[in-house]
Amino acid sequence: MKILVINCGSSSLKYQLIDSDTEQVLAKGLCERIGIEGGCLTHQGAGKEKVTIQKDMPEHTVAVQMVIEALTDKEHGVIASLDEIGAVGHRIVHGGEKFAGSVIVTDEVVQAIEECADLAPLHNPANLIGIRSCEKIMPGVLQAAVFDTAFHQTMPKKAYLYGLPYEYYEKYKVRRYGFHGTSHDFVSARAAQILGKDRKDLRIIVCHLGNGASISAVKYGESVDTSMGLTPLEGLIMGTRCGDIDPAVVSFLGEKEQLSYQELSDVMNKKSGVLGMSGISSDFRDLGAAADQGDERAKMTLDAYAYRVAKYIGAYTAAMGGVDVIAFTAGVGENNISMREMIGEYLGFLGTKVDHEKNNLRGEEAVISTPESRVSMMVVPTNEELAIARETLRLVRKQ
Ligand code: AMP
Repeated sequence: MKILVINCGSSSLKYQLIDSDTEQVLAKGLCERIGIEGGCLTHQGAGKEKVTIQKDMPEHTVAVQMVIEALTDKEHGVIASLDEIGAVGHRIVHGGEKFAGSVIVTDEVVQAIEECADLAPLHNPANLIGIRSCEKIMPGVLQAAVFDTAFHQTMPKKAYLYGLPYEYYEKYKVRRYGFHGTSHDFVSARAAQILGKDRKDLRIIVCHLGNGASISAVKYGESVDTSMGLTPLEGLIMGTRCGDIDPAVVSFLGEKEQLSYQELSDVMNKKSGVLGMSGISSDFRDLGAAADQGDERAKMTLDAYAYRVAKYIGAYTAAMGGVDVIAFTAGVGENNISMREMIGEYLGFLGTKVDHEKNNLRGEEAVISTPESRVSMMVVPTNEELAIARETLRLVRKQ
């Protein structure tokens, strides 16, 4: 079956058409500047040239229509007609406490996603627009909702409750939810598979280090803790997000700089992290280059980043009463050799040992620790689109 995977943002739409039998990507692309002048679709069919189509997309329905046209185009397309698309899988950012797994989209599901919009006001409404646009253009085609938060719904209360008055949890559901769930699930399952073991026998720490970054503790197959919280702002130092800070910083800076909540939120989400600390870039390649040239702030930023990751690994080792596997994934985790080394240097106390030769790789599955290492350290490239396609197929088969 051919499954269209859609990741809809407020002004963008990413897609992949995946053949679920072979798990091959048949085509992928990106619509940018939806609702803004200067709309643009970039599309690439497998084994074909990348094409860019400039056309304004006043709304998401127009973007979905353009995606279908690109997929069925005689030259750049990969399918003869819309009828070949068997199902659509949507990435939904926040499922609150309502969704502990993926579901087939129904009117009730749409309503429940709407009710979670409070918790992810930038993402959930955009995700819903994606669903509605597909319903309009492909009526009758089964649609699945796959949530970023669902995998972490197994966390115990002691891990997800904040030290705030309990009434805020009861009234507003203020708690830790965690994100990147599809990735943490996929990577921990794949890590066990590579080692030839059952995930149910392993304590795995997954370090999803991308532009957004989070760590999870996956104990015997279930997420028991994760670093992102009510929103994706908590936890690690990220590309542009600050991660953990003293909450009192918010009111302190608000007063000193005369900033509104919205402005402070902008600072913490878009101007902080390694970008804010280094004053150079949110991209680790730029930071690495600057550090190599002797830039002290770049060096300090990279060290602080590695230190925070190592600190979480220590915490999650305590949370699980030990650790068997540490898996690195996403842009930085898969590609940044020196960052993995830096993190590894903090972890000797666990009996881990990075094999420098084995670690010298990018974007490939590998065990990067020595055979004597008490913990298996691994690189496991994530594939959230494939994970969404698999979930969609699973739901279709259950129908
Ligand atoms: P993601 O959000 O998973 O796409 O990760 C994006 C981040 O990965 C970028 O900001 C880069 O800092 C980082 N990245 C990608 N490729 C490399 C590389 N070859 N070396 C270092 N960092 C990389």
